[in-house]
Amino acid sequence: MVLDFGIDLQGRRQIQGWLKADLALACRRCHAPIERAVESEFLLGMVADESLAGELPASHEPVLVENEQLDLLALVEDELILSLPQVVYHDEADCLVPAQQLVSKADDATEEASAPDDNPFAVLRTLKGKQ
Ligand SMILES: [Zn+2]
Repeated sequence: MVLDFGIDLQGRRQIQGWLKADLALACRRCHAPIERAVESEFLLGMVADESLAGELPASHEPVLVENEQLDLLALVEDELILSLPQVVYHDEADCLVPAQQLVSKADDATEEASAPDDNPFAVLRTLKGKQ
């Protein structure tokens, strides 16, 4: 992960960041983990007040800095979540659930989405613990 703190020509404080993480995401079909490399690049503009966010150029994502405190971990988490694939599946040959069962499985897809194994935040908790 690279974070580059700087001040642009207009005197705005900005963070240019790049991060990469290897995450174990649950397969939507069989719930076995799949290793995925996730990569994200971002350009953030620091604002002291939400009302100032509108003054940032479109290239910058606003990030709120309150009392000179920047919650870096929350920021990185947000970026990671944004870069996560919505749904991951094994290739049919690797999946523990045979392809012919998929039709009946599709019906309870909504229910599965709220299962703890599918929660991207659970992955992030693991990540947090390692730091
Ligand atoms: Zn699978």
